[in-house]
Amino acid sequence: MSAARRVCNHSGFRYTIEKVIGEGAFGTVYLIFSLETGERVALKKICEDTRYKSRELEALQAIHHPNCLTLLHHFISESQSTKMLYLNLVTEYVPDTLSCVERQYLSIGQTIPTLLVKLISYQLLRSLAYLHSKKIVHRDIKPANILLHPSTCILKLCDFGSAKFFKANEPSISYITSRPYRAPELILGATRYDGSIDIWSAGIIFLSLLSKR
Ligand code: ATP
Repeated sequence: MSAARRVCNHSGFRYTIEKVIGEGAFGTVYLIFSLETGERVALKKICEDTRYKSRELEALQAIHHPNCLTLLHHFISESQSTKMLYLNLVTEYVPDTLSCVERQYLSIGQTIPTLLVKLISYQLLRSLAYLHSKKIVHRDIKPANILLHPSTCILKLCDFGSAKFFKANEPSISYITSRPYRAPELILGATRYDGSIDIWSAGIIFLSLLSKR
């Protein structure tokens, strides 16, 4: 019989950790079981820099759209051993990513069906239209950041860790977005750009899905 899972309690939010579901440059994402709601949700734990307000938290708090990940709760925790502070973002849990789905089809010698490609394209562009209307540029559009519900095919854009609220004439770094999805102006070092860099990344994704490569 498996050992009982340790109950974590932060600011009255009680949960147990089921497993690690993602590890990136900025944080670790866990599948957790919320003892408050009895639901499985995701928790992204990021090293907190108290000098700045987290852009990811700011973006998630401003975003309310069916094709963007929903923030349910957030809290700060402290490591008992290192005393480091962590920002914990609790969001809905979505079991698949576009990269996993692509790999699953590839492993059985197939490609993603055209209808699914259309569903993905429509929902991704819908999420970007919403973000850009709010002057938010995602800046890290890639298949690993596109979550898909396996049964409903509902798409949720995740990872707002590189997102930025754009202000006219404010320069931004050009070394951003995963290389295969990086827009030409970024590669050429542009520091004044807008949501069109996300559209480029989306275009690369559509091209790879449609060209079946
Ligand atoms: P990276 O360095 O790759 O940009 P990151 O540290 O910014 O990663 P995220 O991209 O937010 O972290 O999350 C890492 C991975 O965890 C995602 O690519 C995705 O596969 C998974 N993931 C994140 N959030 C969820 C979620 N809510 N439900 C399911 N899986 C998720």
